Amino acid sequence: MSDKFDVIVIGAGPAGYHAAIRAAQLGLKTAVVDAFVGKDGKQALGGTCLNVGCIPSKALLDSSKQFYNLSHNLPAHGISVENAKVDLKAFIGRKDKIVKQFTGGVAQLFKANKITSFFGQGKLLKGNQVEITGNDGAKQVIGATNVILASGSVPIELPFAKFDGEHIIDNAGALDITAVPKRLGVIGAGVIGLELGSVWNRLGSDVTVIEALPDFLGAADADIAKIALKEFGKQGLTIKLGAKLSKAEVKGDEVHVTYADKDGEQTLVVDKLLVAVGRRAYTEGLLGEDTGVKLDERGRIVVDEHNHTGVDGVWAVGDAVRGPMLAHKGFEEGMAVAEWIAGKAGHVDLDTMPWVIYTEPEIAWAGRTEKQLKEEGVPYKVGTFPFAAIGRAVAMNEAVGQVKMIAHAETDRILGVHMVGPGVSELIAECVVAMEFKGSSEDLARIVHAHPTLSEAVHEAALAVDKRAIHKGN
Ligand code: FAD
Ligand code: NAD
Repeated sequence: MSDKFDVIVIGAGPAGYHAAIRAAQLGLKTAVVDAFVGKDGKQALGGTCLNVGCIPSKALLDSSKQFYNLSHNLPAHGISVENAKVDLKAFIGRKDKIVKQFTGGVAQLFKANKITSFFGQGKLLKGNQVEITGNDGAKQVIGATNVILASGSVPIELPFAKFDGEHIIDNAGALDITAVPKRLGVIGAGVIGLELGSVWNRLGSDVTVIEALPDFLGAADADIAKIALKEFGKQGLTIKLGAKLSKAEVKGDEVHVTYADKDGEQTLVVDKLLVAVGRRAYTEGLLGEDTGVKLDERGRIVVDEHNHTGVDGVWAVGDAVRGPMLAHKGFEEGMAVAEWIAGKAGHVDLDTMPWVIYTEPEIAWAGRTEKQLKEEGVPYKVGTFPFAAIGRAVAMNEAVGQVKMIAHAETDRILGVHMVGPGVSELIAECVVAMEFKGSSEDLARIVHAHPTLSEAVHEAALAVDKRAIHKGN
């Protein structure tokens, strides 16, 4: 067959486009099929992350932080600004421009790497054929030696709070609000709820977050979560824990939310309700009959440790498979699969995956929490260091939070690092490198860190593991 490819990737999100570019770099004849339609009605590559996820949310977080700092940080520097206003059209427009720049960038990278791009819905058929259905309904079939499924994820919809795109919204809706809502309700104090709740809180919305679980940010280290919860409270975010939602009804221009907490049934009336209760793997229409590809009990594509589905030449990566739903996890899996296909040594280490929540203060971690180590019976020692004693953080007027390093009690190998504070999204990278090289806290303690920088908090936390931090009592 003349149009037979070496690799067809279904889905051009972070996982899919990394797979495709790496495959093309390795000399494989590569095609990508993606169905995402941008705000202008045209194909927009880059998936959730570039269109309605990582990039647009960070654009709005950065813009809203600038605005918030005018009244909450600059006065401490002796700077006052009166009558600051947000032009929401320009605010959202800036975000849209960034999205277009990056989705267009993926299209250019495909062109530069001679990747054939198809716009439409891809369905895997038996024998590694892919049926593509265009927007006009026209169908064509292409074939390949290998097919990589990278269909990503979509927001979970609650049956009693269905998205209407106007009053009850998902992440895409919360990135495109046209007037700052007076009252914003958020269901789910997870990553999206906290990041997008922060954006609108900074612009003046009265934000109430309703979380079903009794513990705040259960996946993070408990000490870090505690500090973050306190800081979010100071910023005016109301976070209700252990609150079970039972109903959300649109009445006129309001949403009436009913939930139950330890004090009984409560009602919350808001102008908009963001539902952010997690995401699920998206595989609708992806698999034809008898392909042999299996889904697990949560609807994720079943893969082995090499992202192979068990069907000859069929692989799956990113949010559609097990593991954390993070763009960089998808990047690494996509590249690794391309390398495995080309007979090279791909590598993904899920154990050192960094997590970052881009709130203020930022939250970042990699590796094990104290709770996990206790459950696993692993002996450990802990070193913490507060940003309050870091000169650079104080100079920035952002001296909030701490770095907490956990090392094995006997070998000193770093098992986890947990941070809340300024710039920790960048500081975590050093710790991931140390952990990936099986480093010890002493290794980091003996490495020179520039002064005055935020990275000194990592250095001091490493020293603190051995009770020898310089700028605090041990
Ligand atoms: P996706 O990005 O979901 O891409 C899948 C693509 O496949 C889509 O374009 C979809 O249209 C297409 N597709 C699906 N099925 C088919 C089919 N049958 N045929 C053709 N095309 C198909 N992660 C981070 O690491 N950092 C962040 O800061 C971050 N922020 C986020 C903020 C928000 C608001 C959200 C919602 C998510 C965020 N994430 C973040 C998560 C990140 O976006 C995902 O982990 C990542 O996009 C997953 O990549 P993927 O390639 O697996 O899937
Ligand atoms: P999440 O899993 O982070 O948080 C969902 C929260 O909703 C949880 O705390 C859960 O207990 C709660 N919840 C579930 N059902 C509920 C109910 N009925 N009532 C009240 N609370 C309920 O999910 P998310 O915030 O939707 O984000 C989805 C995923 O997207 C994240 O897990 C992450 O993988 C990815 N993401 C990452 C980033 C980042 O890396 N900075 C940013 C945004 C999203």
